[in-house]
Amino acid sequence: MRDETCIFCKIANGDIPSSAIYEDEWFRVILDLGPASRGHALILPKNHFADLLELDEETSSKVLALAAKVGAAMKKSLGCAGFNLVQNNGEAAGQTVFHFHMHVIPRYEGGPRMVSWEPGSPSREELAELAGRIRQELE
Ligand code: AMP
Ligand code: ZN
Repeated sequence: MRDETCIFCKIANGDIPSSAIYEDEWFRVILDLGPASRGHALILPKNHFADLLELDEETSSKVLALAAKVGAAMKKSLGCAGFNLVQNNGEAAGQTVFHFHMHVIPRYEGGPRMVSWEPGSPSREELAELAGRIRQELE
């Protein structure tokens, strides 16, 4: 399940060199070329899935455990105080490479600041209306 035109398929399968930090049958984990912080990594499945909605069950059942393993290794090896998992789906959400990937972003005391937003202030009625709409779709 590869897409011959996809750069992350090539990287995940070792056809293009990368700064790999981990590999198994399912994934290659590499360092991001444009890191948000020191040690920013990307978990790439070896199979091609455009985004989370396309991911198969086997891959999705493994990815969070791998993210925890990578995050724990970062805390030990880089001395980060924490880490963020970021996973963009769709252009509007900031996705630029359309091969599923999960960012593991080490966070250090003192910055840099990121992954934050200005909290909104919806009314209770608005929240109830939104919750109803989404709940209906999930049933
Ligand atoms: P996203 O915006 O979630 O699609 O993230 C794509 C990420 O891939 C960005 O953080 C880029 O810096 C990173 N990236 C793009 N091309 C490469 C590459 N060849 N090797 C490593 N990271 C890459
Ligand atoms: Zn791909």
